Amino acid sequence: MAKILVIADIKQGVLKSSTAELLSKAKTIGAETAVVAVGSNIESLTSDLANAGSDTQYIADDPSLELFSAGPYASCVVDAAKQFGANLIWFGFSESGKAVAPRVATQLDAACATEITDVELSGDQIEVIRPAIANKVMQRVKVNTDQLVAVVRAGAFEATEGITGTENVVKLSAPAPDLKAVIKELISDAIGEIDLVDADVVISVGRGVKDQAGVDLVKELANDLKAGFGSSRAMVDGGFMAHNKQVGQTGKIVAPSLYMAIGISGAIQHLAGMTGSKVILAVNKDTEAPIFNVADYGIVGDLFEVVPILREEIKKIKS
Ligand SMILES: Cc1cc2nc3c(=O)[nH]c(=O)nc-3n(C[C@H](O)[C@H](O)[C@H](O)COP(=O)(O)OP(=O)(O)OC[C@H]3O[C@@H](n4cnc5c(N)ncnc54)[C@H](O)[C@@H]3O)c2cc1C
Repeated sequence: MAKILVIADIKQGVLKSSTAELLSKAKTIGAETAVVAVGSNIESLTSDLANAGSDTQYIADDPSLELFSAGPYASCVVDAAKQFGANLIWFGFSESGKAVAPRVATQLDAACATEITDVELSGDQIEVIRPAIANKVMQRVKVNTDQLVAVVRAGAFEATEGITGTENVVKLSAPAPDLKAVIKELISDAIGEIDLVDADVVISVGRGVKDQAGVDLVKELANDLKAGFGSSRAMVDGGFMAHNKQVGQTGKIVAPSLYMAIGISGAIQHLAGMTGSKVILAVNKDTEAPIFNVADYGIVGDLFEVVPILREEIKKIKS
């Protein structure tokens, strides 16, 4: 039986949905499951981790682990992977996951695959599916080691109702601090904002909104819907949006229930970050805009007229 270790994605003390999604997939394919959680004051999450579908919880809980640092976090994951005898080690899609996964693979001498969308197990043989060349093709990758570290693409797996685990805690000791990189403080301008990768609804603006007034207009729609607020690269390059809001090949990959592209043409590099969304709605005044090739719903019109109408209709539905 395959043994799958999932790395718990915890942000500001809250367990993110990707952890349950990965554990559900692991259970669905009949694997034995464990989770590793690293941080400070996180022991209270143990029952959530079990309920999400893990049968063993490796917990590294220490004040020295409060601030994310790839070196010590990787040491904890390696420790758990060795104790559990994991064949597969899965990270959710996050900046920290992308930083830790290759370190873990190197220390375990295991293969490493990023952005996987599926996995197939047959005996000891592991194969994964992943997109390549900005989503133009899907690759089937045969893994030539018996251990694989993988970063799973956002939205690739779904949490299944009825999946549960059992509480069986194994405490890990905190690793020696990483003296090569000492994290003193975490500075974030996004505290309190909805994380694009987790958001159920994401609304992104493109060059069609023209200027800051256009950005602010669409931001109000995002606020109405409690949506994550993203952007094409054109708006980042233009200085209107921060880089951490960019969706696409060189930005974030999102897979919300609803993605709204407002004044975005649909360049291949933008599509690479959002075509995993369940429903896509595009607003564009150009009927030939490529975004309409991937949109489930398209509104052809001037966004400065369409967005206020959408806000008005949403207000009516809400009341
Ligand atoms: C290596 C590389 C990596 C890249 N990575 C990314 C990435 O990660 N993410 C990304 O987004 N891009 C990326 N790009 C850039 C990408 O190629 C496009 O240039 C960019 O996505 C275009 O942004 P846009 O759709 O906002 O602008 P445009 O292509 O200029 O489109 C603006 C759209 O707005 C519409 N419009 C204009 N006015 C209105 C109006 N009043 N009402 C309604 N619609 C209107 C227009 O019809 C048009 O379709 C990358 C490029 C390269 C070379």
